[in-house]
Amino acid sequence: AQEEAFRVAFRDRDEPSTAARRAARPPADAAGSIPFANTPDTDPAVGVARAWARGLVARDVPVPDGAVTVSTTDEVDAVVARAASALPGWAATPPADRARALHAVAVALEDARADLVATMVHETGKTVAEADPEVSEAVDFARYYADRAAELADGTVPGAVHRPAGLTVVTPPWNFPVAIPVGSVLASLAAGSPVLVKPAPQAPRCGQVAMAAIRRGLDEAGAPGGILTVVLSPEGDVGRRLVTHPDVARVILTGSIETAQLFAGWRSDLDVLAETSGKNALVITPSADVDLAVADLVRSAFGHAGQKCSAASLAILVGSAGRSDRLRRQLADAVASLRVGPATDLGTSVGPLTEPASGKLLRALTTLDPGESWLVAPRQLDEEGRLWSPGVKHGVAPGSWFHTTECFGPVLGIMRVQTLDEAIDLQNAVAFGLTGGLHSLDEGEIEHWLDRVEVGNAYVNRHITGAIVQRQPFGGWKASTVGPGAKAGGPHYVAQIGDWQDSADVP
Ligand code: GLU
Repeated sequence: AQEEAFRVAFRDRDEPSTAARRAARPPADAAGSIPFANTPDTDPAVGVARAWARGLVARDVPVPDGAVTVSTTDEVDAVVARAASALPGWAATPPADRARALHAVAVALEDARADLVATMVHETGKTVAEADPEVSEAVDFARYYADRAAELADGTVPGAVHRPAGLTVVTPPWNFPVAIPVGSVLASLAAGSPVLVKPAPQAPRCGQVAMAAIRRGLDEAGAPGGILTVVLSPEGDVGRRLVTHPDVARVILTGSIETAQLFAGWRSDLDVLAETSGKNALVITPSADVDLAVADLVRSAFGHAGQKCSAASLAILVGSAGRSDRLRRQLADAVASLRVGPATDLGTSVGPLTEPASGKLLRALTTLDPGESWLVAPRQLDEEGRLWSPGVKHGVAPGSWFHTTECFGPVLGIMRVQTLDEAIDLQNAVAFGLTGGLHSLDEGEIEHWLDRVEVGNAYVNRHITGAIVQRQPFGGWKASTVGPGAKAGGPHYVAQIGDWQDSADVP
């Protein structure tokens, strides 16, 4: 019944389920960008001007009240019980009223823009140029999911009734500490589920400032108090109790594959929607416009210092694109001229890492494997290990550590192949399947690549980060996703947080 309900409700929209994606691939983004809603397509001048005018780049925003700190498993139980008591009322609230509340939240988030930008800049080292569009994405999620909530009303899907999943725990990542928690929380609220959200320990203020804005919007619309709870807790037993609590129906995780595996190990029947890691490549063929390809590669690899699961960490050069000096020289120049510095400096294009480089990232920044050499050697610019100039390594070998390992920082590896098929084989050889890109001006190559590449978000002649709500829903394939697989910012995302029941079965 659920499959049928999806089919009927969404027959005019093209957002195939994970299983169907190979057969019916979502449209790739052809060149250019048509911004949805208020997303300014990353025009840095807009965010810079706003933040500067408000004088907020240079100061911290106070932490809002309202988060609950839990330090024992008993406290978790009490918080869960309180949140669960909000379920019947919210689930019974007509979808149109939930939609109205989310539209009020969109306005509140827009009003909080400068505070959100300033908090991201200070707490995580995100540049203003990256932080401002993140607020736009959060606002877009609010409006888009409000409209999807309205579609859950009885009668939208003939013969089927939508039932919310139940109490939902949201565990967002630190790299998009506003847009991702806002999107996950609002999708759950849109679907009629109360939420417990635990901001990433690296970015608790961002989470709290964003959730306080959501709270203001909900209050404005007269929504009940208990439907959103911000939980601050140390990791370990307390986090585990929260995620595996028997009264929690659903967990929405965005984070590394390791965290997804940890959760699954805690409770094997956990109902989890997860977006996890990626090891993403941009392929450049001899027909590509080299100027555009280099600009998009640099933006995809080093935006937010490479700390995006969507980031390009491999460039695969096909045929003469790999043999000619021109592309490599242009790339080296572009990377060497990036301005690396504090995020509070408005001229910075690569800010500090959110945490000092360690583990896999430190290895990638400091080690060359056999066959590799630096085209641009990275340099550590501070004592702490947070500020690194970006690095580019040549000669990454098929099957090597760098080919298959997500490093999550400012390092790009170059691989060279003879044919487009070899390039696609290298892309598909990694366990993940999150984003991928092709720069080519040859229609035949584009069709062939789209047909074969195994990624959730396939981009043609464009940077491979920065999915846009509604226009380019975001989600992965293969090891990059867990759950039914509907994409964030896409038409099925809200509906999948719950069940469709035959109306005949509903008393
Ligand atoms: N949605 C982001 C993008 O399209 C990536 C999210 C992430 O890194 O978790 O770039």
